[in-house]
Amino acid sequence: MQLVFLGPPGAGKGTQAAILARELGIPQISTGDMFRAAVRDQTPLGREAQRYMEAGQLVPDEVTIGIVEERLRADDCRDGFILDGFPRTVPQAEALDRILAAAGRPLDRAVEFAIEEEEVVRRLAGRRTCSECGAVYNIYTRPPRQAGVCDSCGGPLAQREDDREETVRARLAVYGQQTAPLIGYYKESGRLVRIDASRTPGEVTAALKEALGVA
Ligand code: AMP
Repeated sequence: MQLVFLGPPGAGKGTQAAILARELGIPQISTGDMFRAAVRDQTPLGREAQRYMEAGQLVPDEVTIGIVEERLRADDCRDGFILDGFPRTVPQAEALDRILAAAGRPLDRAVEFAIEEEEVVRRLAGRRTCSECGAVYNIYTRPPRQAGVCDSCGGPLAQREDDREETVRARLAVYGQQTAPLIGYYKESGRLVRIDASRTPGEVTAALKEALGVA
């Protein structure tokens, strides 16, 4: 199954993509994670991406499309994939359609994770991520057993630089201006599925699987 997950930052796309990808045996492809790894390693890509990410802005389309195109050519994408955080602009969505059409395998569905802005701000302010394995927690709604320590691997939990309030507001504005129009793009072509993402993670997973017919 070839899927795109859409929704504002903090909607739970990454959490749900990780669960569904594991169950379906397909990779979760997060452009945000790819950029964060490049920033950590200070590669040329990372150095370019860093200044946009720190400002809450999008990395330019040509850079982002290039890394996704290369990633989709990898062997593990043969049976499908979940794109989490890509596309984020109409030109990215058009490029993805072109890439998949050239491979003769069109996208199956775009899933919209629908949620109110205030709920997103609350979630992002509480979000903590394991610096070692990337597991995601929330100090209000999904705290680790021991404060600051990852349940899975014991690694230290940190707040993402771009989850600070000022950057969150910039990211939400960018979402409204550049990414929200994608909902119309996928709706018009009959590929959109809408999920209420304000519910608990377990409820969202159940709704997602039912909507995709993989329950
Ligand atoms: P995320 O983890 O998906 O919230 O992404 C974190 C940051 O990485 C974003 O705020 C952007 O700066 C950058 N980024 C991730 N995905 C994309 C994309 N598809 N297009 C442009 N920039 C992106």
